[in-house]
Amino acid sequence: MMSTDLKPEYDIVIAGGGLVGGSFALLLARLARNSGLRVLLLDATPPQTDSIEQGPDFDARSTALSWGSRLIYEQAGLWPALADDITAIRDIHVSDRGHFGATRLRSDEMGVEALGYVAENRQLGRVLQQALRDNKDLTVCAPASVEHVQPQSDGAMLTIKGAGRERISTRLLVLADGGRSGLCRQLGITVQQKHYGQQALICNVAFASDHQGQAFERFTDTGPLAMLPLADHVAGRERQHRGALVWTLADSNGTGSDLQTYSADRMMALPEVEFIEALQQRFGWRLGRITHAGARSLYPLSLNVAREQIRPGIVLLGNVAHTLHPVAGQGLNLALRDARALAELLVDAHRNNKDPGAMDVLQAFVAAQSGDQAQTIAFSDLTTRLFSNAQPALALGRNLGLLLMDLMPPAKGWFARQAMGMADRQSVRPYS
Ligand SMILES: Cc1cc2nc3c(=O)[nH]c(=O)nc-3n(C[C@H](O)[C@H](O)[C@H](O)COP(=O)(O)OP(=O)(O)OC[C@H]3O[C@@H](n4cnc5c(N)ncnc54)[C@H](O)[C@@H]3O)c2cc1C
Repeated sequence: MMSTDLKPEYDIVIAGGGLVGGSFALLLARLARNSGLRVLLLDATPPQTDSIEQGPDFDARSTALSWGSRLIYEQAGLWPALADDITAIRDIHVSDRGHFGATRLRSDEMGVEALGYVAENRQLGRVLQQALRDNKDLTVCAPASVEHVQPQSDGAMLTIKGAGRERISTRLLVLADGGRSGLCRQLGITVQQKHYGQQALICNVAFASDHQGQAFERFTDTGPLAMLPLADHVAGRERQHRGALVWTLADSNGTGSDLQTYSADRMMALPEVEFIEALQQRFGWRLGRITHAGARSLYPLSLNVAREQIRPGIVLLGNVAHTLHPVAGQGLNLALRDARALAELLVDAHRNNKDPGAMDVLQAFVAAQSGDQAQTIAFSDLTTRLFSNAQPALALGRNLGLLLMDLMPPAKGWFARQAMGMADRQSVRPYS
């Protein structure tokens, strides 16, 4: 329910209604239905205005959702609205350019309908915003930003801009305000940063052949390259088979002639025809000729992890807690698993008349998710370092790894479960 008529006090305030804050709010509201839990979501950005009538956009940005994320969106009651416009990943083809190792992860072998899905970000945003507007168990206010947080013995006092009420108190503040959180800086919560000296080049590409639900992860001596299947782009009579490229490239000061040839700055500067030629050379011909490459953008690759995830009355969720590089496609997927664990614990606490901001409740959240977070961060970090390294010993190691994965179903199963966001879930143990 969108509102400007806010109360002076809430049980839970969520600062930030991006993909993570919005999904968390809806999951929490669903689990806490009719329980009287008072939840307010504030987002600094005005609600998305584009409508379903807006034409298709060749360059629309997208996100890979794991099978595990589908289950979470089902739990939140959002999957039926998302399923219509989403592309299923049936197979993942993993290969190493110029080497012998290759493996294929197949949904039918895993006994699931799909290994994951690719959703356009604006469609995800549209579904979340519609659901937030319709939800009667939540109060949503946007644009409105949390300007200042004053921690208190029983939660936090917030100073708000744009909500028609300047001060609101909450028993728990969920910080979901993204990777450049001004609120964390204000609270003195610092971030551990690791730079990879690489950039991710993002671009949608058209191929002569249909991808048939295949995603490609291709490792090359100048960096890994992922191609996700996207829905065809149809404009008039023209139909283009689209893939979403995430290409990791060295910064321009990379050493070695190939690294310089395929540096991020150089790939950005090339005219389209030459860019297509370079990409085709690295990606190969599995989907035929590349006929078009859309707008390109660069994201510096780094790993940022907040040094504290909880304080009395405060918890961090999403990019503010951990920003992973986009190559492994795990950032949102991990955050959704965190969101589910937190929502379940908060609803349990509420039903037992516990303070949602109490440290034992928040510690139970950290205990439930720290293993998953550590494993996902290590998985993303390791794949990036291992597969973007041209050293012969490492190249041999990864080739053997790919071969062994194909020969040893349990290893393949482990890799697939990790990619699917289905790594063994630790049970959410309520606070003691
Ligand atoms: C190129 C790229 C590709 C990616 N691909 C994948 C993928 O395939 N799969 C995957 O799982 N992940 C992927 N990710 C990661 C994923 O996009 C992020 O994990 C996710 O978007 C994080 O969302 P968030 O809500 O935490 O942060 P944000 O999206 O940054 O949202 C933060 C929100 O907080 C609001 N806000 C900020 N300050 C305040 C304030 N003071 N008060 C109120 N509101 C405030 C902002 O308006 C914003 O709406 C990718 C990331 C990139 C960059």
